Amino acid sequence: MVRVVVVGAGVNGVGSALALQRLHPECQITIIAKDFTPNTTGDGAAGLWEPYRKGTGDTPDSKILEWAGVTWQQFSEWYSKGEGKTRGLSLIHGTTLNSVLKPSPSWQHIPLGYASLTPDQCAQFGPRYKSGSRFTTFTAEPSKLLPSLLRDLKALGTRLEVRCLSSLKEAADEADLVINCSGLGARDLVPDPLVFPVRGQVIRSAEVVEEWVGLRPYRSKGVRLEADELQLGNRTIPVVHNYGHGGCGVTLSWGCSQEVARLASRLILRHHGHASKL
Ligand SMILES: Cc1cc2nc3c(=O)[nH]c(=O)nc-3n(C[C@H](O)[C@H](O)[C@H](O)COP(=O)(O)OP(=O)(O)OC[C@H]3O[C@@H](n4cnc5c(N)ncnc54)[C@H](O)[C@@H]3O)c2cc1C
Repeated sequence: MVRVVVVGAGVNGVGSALALQRLHPECQITIIAKDFTPNTTGDGAAGLWEPYRKGTGDTPDSKILEWAGVTWQQFSEWYSKGEGKTRGLSLIHGTTLNSVLKPSPSWQHIPLGYASLTPDQCAQFGPRYKSGSRFTTFTAEPSKLLPSLLRDLKALGTRLEVRCLSSLKEAADEADLVINCSGLGARDLVPDPLVFPVRGQVIRSAEVVEEWVGLRPYRSKGVRLEADELQLGNRTIPVVHNYGHGGCGVTLSWGCSQEVARLASRLILRHHGHASKL
C-alpha cells in the first residue's frame, strides 16, 4: 500500500489530502500537523473569496485564475446542494476601493454581478479613491469548513496525527510520498527563506466581540506548487510542495488541492507502478 504523509492541516493540507484520498482510495494517507482546526491560520479568517494579486507574490495570473475558479465552482456546488451552513459558506455583497487607478481583474467574470465603479461613484467614498468595484462573493469560514472536510476524510479512512516535525525528512521516513502544506512552517522545514509572515487582523462587529491576529504565509516568489525529491539514504522520496498562499489561501485552496492530487497521482504511478498493485 502506498503511504502518503501530508504535512499540515490548514485549508491546503486538508484539501490536498481529501482530493488525493478521493482519487486514490487505496492509498494510506496520514495528515501530520502540530496544529489542527481551530488553531490553523485560516481559523480566524473570514475566508473571503477574492484572488487579489498583492497577496500572492509572483504567482502567475493564469494560475491564480485557474485555482480560484476551481475553488469558486466547489463553493457554488456545496451552496446549491444546501451544504452552505455545514461548510461555513455565506454569500456577501461588497465594495472594494483603491487609491490608485487599477484595471479590472482577470477574474471579474467569476463572482456574481461584478461591476467597476465610475470615478463619481468612487469619489462618494472620499477624494482619495480612484477606482473600485462591487460584486457578490462567498466567504468560506475555515473554522466551519475544516471540521466538515475532516469528517469527510475520516469517513474515507485518512489518519490524523498531531505532531511537530523537525524536518520534511522526518515525514519522508514513514512515507512513499510527502505532500508539504506546512504554510509558514515551510520556512524551516524545506527550508525556504522566501517564506515570511505578513500580519493580519480580523475584528468582528462594531462592538468588538472578538479580535484575532494571524500571520499570512506569504512567499515572495508566489505559491510553490511543484514536485520535488528528498534523498533519504538510498531512498528517493517524491515530494509535492503546496505552500506560500499568503492572503489568498482560502480562495486558492480547492484549486491547488486538485492540482496537488493530479501531480501526486502521476508520481505514485511513476515511482511505484500501478498504485493498486502496492
Ligand atoms: C487575518 C487574516 C485574514 C485572512 N483572510 C483571508 C481571506 O479573506 N481570504 C483568503 O482566501 N485568505 C485569507 N487569509 C489567508 C489564509 O488564511 C491563508 O492563506 C491560509 O489559511 C493558509 O492555509 P495553509 O493550509 O496553506 O497554511 P496553515 O493554515 O498555516 O497550515 C499550516 C499547517 O502546517 C502545520 N505545520 C507547520 N509547521 C509544522 C511542523 N514543523 N510540524 C508539523 N506541522 C507543521 C501547521 O500546524 C498547520 O497545520 C487570511 C489570513 C489572515 C491571517
